[in-house]
Amino acid sequence: MFEIIDGKKISNDIQSKIKLEVDQLRYKGITPGLAVIIVGSNPASKVYVSMKQKACANLGIYSEEHKLEENTSQDSLLELIKSLNADPKINGILVQLPLPDQINTNLVLETIVPEKDVDGFHPYNVGKLVAGLPTFVACTPYGVIKLLEHSKVHMAGKEAVIIGRSNIVGKPVAMLLMQENATVTICHSKTKDLPSVCRRADILIAAIGKPKMVTKEYIKKGAVVIDVGVNRLPDGTLCGDVDFDDVKDITSKITPVPGGVGPMTITMLMLNTVKSAKIANGIK
Ligand code: NDP
Repeated sequence: MFEIIDGKKISNDIQSKIKLEVDQLRYKGITPGLAVIIVGSNPASKVYVSMKQKACANLGIYSEEHKLEENTSQDSLLELIKSLNADPKINGILVQLPLPDQINTNLVLETIVPEKDVDGFHPYNVGKLVAGLPTFVACTPYGVIKLLEHSKVHMAGKEAVIIGRSNIVGKPVAMLLMQENATVTICHSKTKDLPSVCRRADILIAAIGKPKMVTKEYIKKGAVVIDVGVNRLPDGTLCGDVDFDDVKDITSKITPVPGGVGPMTITMLMLNTVKSAKIANGIK
């Protein structure tokens, strides 16, 4: 019998603890602050930004939203980031991706000071992650590891296979799993005989962006399956990269989409913002 890893519940449990921490900080006169920048009017980005602001409001984290026009110049975005870098109310700066074509995303991410890089995308923080040093870990990969921990999945010595090698999901997840002493394989679009590589996995992470691509021929009996994918089907419903109904009975634990990794991503952003406020105020 498989178990559904309930990302919503785990996320709510973690948020309750974050709220207590925020209350304690406020008692000391410290209010963690998050600035979210959105450029243009991508509907999905708007939804994500409003979810992040709602989470801040629920937890007592100060948040401000900076909405910029689609045709905003790179220079004005960089100026805004620099002013937020210097603003003591702000502990975390998040630029909602994707950005319009006239803007160099890497330059934008590198302009955020590493101490306020709560998304964990700055090369300095990525380097620290690779070196195994404490840093801000990108929210989705961090959420994946927290889901595994809270579901009592022991990672040490396990075969972990990740499908996807992006900078925001696949690569950082691989680093984190390696730090947990899993034996890690990273797959991508050029991997040969992907199903047979995936069948080695005790822990399979799908971060592909292809609806229901992972079917039961990819799954070893008893594997734990974490589905990072978020895809919209033509009928408007959301689904993951894993064909949940096809594989669930072979797995031991599996995340649903929605309600798995998604809620954890926002919660980890809150966690990173509070961590940043603590560091800025010399609190361990
Ligand atoms: P990217 O498009 O940046 O990366 C996709 C990866 O999948 C690439 O490494 C690509 O390989 C690999 N891939 C694509 N097709 C295949 C294939 N047929 N076989 C094997 N590998 C393949 O996506 P992201 O990492 O940004 O996102 C992945 C998914 O996770 C998306 O559905 C996205 O929406 C979702 N997501 C969810 C989040 C959440 O909060 N739940 C947050 C972020 C992302 P190659 O490198 O060779 O091209």
